[in-house]
Amino acid sequence: MTPPPTSTYPDPVPRYDFRCRECADTFEVTRPMSEAGSPAPCPAGHADTVKLLTTVAVGGLAGSRSAAPVGGGGGGCCGGACGCG
Ligand SMILES: [Zn+2]
Repeated sequence: MTPPPTSTYPDPVPRYDFRCRECADTFEVTRPMSEAGSPAPCPAGHADTVKLLTTVAVGGLAGSRSAAPVGGGGGGCCGGACGCG
């Protein structure tokens, strides 16, 4: 049996989106929360960057899957229990 991961498991590091005002490029920076406010240079080496609001992707928010009735077109009664047919 494997022991459950406790202190040896690394903490999830938040990811921040930055946008460079020099080359108008957006990039992601993974850093600990203690350095969240620190400026991050863009991949091209520009220091004039701004931190963007992180968009959180929530599953199920799109609502593409509606509550469609399954087999709601008759036939549910003809299972043999009611003896129709
Ligand atoms: Zn840049």
